[in-house]
Amino acid sequence: MSPHPHIEPLSPWLPQQGDEPFVISGPCSAESEEQLLTTARELSLLPQVKVLRAGIWKPRTRPNDFEGAGVEALKWMQKAKAETGLKLAVEVANPKHVEEALNYGIDMLWIGARTVVNPFSVQELADALRGTDVPILVKNPLTPDLKLWLGALERINRAGVSRLAAIHRGFHYFEKSPYRNAPMWEIPIELKRLVPGLPLITDISHICGRRDLLQSIAQKALDLETNGLMIESHFNPEAALTDAAQQLTPAALRQLLANLIIRKRSGSIEFEYKLEELRTEIDKIDVELIDLLSRRMQVVDEIGAYKKENNITILQLKRWQHIIEDRISIGTNLGLNRKFLLQLLELVHEASIQRQTEIFNRNEQPPTSSGGA
Ligand code: PEP
Ligand code: MN
Repeated sequence: MSPHPHIEPLSPWLPQQGDEPFVISGPCSAESEEQLLTTARELSLLPQVKVLRAGIWKPRTRPNDFEGAGVEALKWMQKAKAETGLKLAVEVANPKHVEEALNYGIDMLWIGARTVVNPFSVQELADALRGTDVPILVKNPLTPDLKLWLGALERINRAGVSRLAAIHRGFHYFEKSPYRNAPMWEIPIELKRLVPGLPLITDISHICGRRDLLQSIAQKALDLETNGLMIESHFNPEAALTDAAQQLTPAALRQLLANLIIRKRSGSIEFEYKLEELRTEIDKIDVELIDLLSRRMQVVDEIGAYKKENNITILQLKRWQHIIEDRISIGTNLGLNRKFLLQLLELVHEASIQRQTEIFNRNEQPPTSSGGA
């Protein structure tokens, strides 16, 4: 984001009550007038739901899949708003969509994950949005690439859009996972750190991909201070033309929202005092950790120089195997997670190899093989 992004806080354009998140809900796709209106009527009875969402133009993998009802559906959206008072949000992927959505009085637009991956498309949208006054929600790109997400927000912001929010909808991930899109919470957290005033909405439906995971992910999003939730709903999810497995009936949505524990973002003086004390402790431990790592690297350097002097290869697989087994056993006995330990050791090992390689490369001949400490 540019050094001084101008972003308006959420509350003036999307009232948020205290620590309670607001909810954007509605079908994945607007399929028929009846489907949209029935769903909207039921949703409007839930006080947390402030915005009705629906896909009008659907980005589909195969050309014969249902591609959305198009402009016709914008008329149903208008009707739903007139009847329920809910604000409206639709996805736009090109300037024509922007024009049509604005013609039909859509209150906010979102840019989908497939569009955000392409800076050309985002720039075209930014140009189309210049001079309009419509709030824009930017989903994360499919790939876990924070810069791409930031870049899209920046392009839209530079076009003069200050009512801006980010939607976290999870990321493509090739390892086995229960989620349709891995949440990778560290990415939206880092985005919030880089752009502190930027409101964040969590699209739990596209993260989960299945109804049974929604409750826990919604709670997690809240505990990580999300500002709002996007949740797909359909009066008859089983019959949905898109994303049937992840949509909730409005009644199930009511239950999910009722089950959420709304925690305060800050506590009493005593609480803050105790928290500060614990944080100070963490700060101290971090400094010690960094100091230890630096001392470890100094020894690694000494070993590297010694190996070089004696013309011995860097990588000593047996030794490395022993280190892994030994440290994991010590760590797991102390209650640390095995996978975490393994990742940490690998990271330290990689950095150690790097340092020794640099020592080997310093003047004279290249190392006899690649390797580790
Ligand atoms: C959607 O919200 O229905 C959608 C297509 O989402 P995404 O762009 O996150 O896949
Ligand atoms: Mn969907």
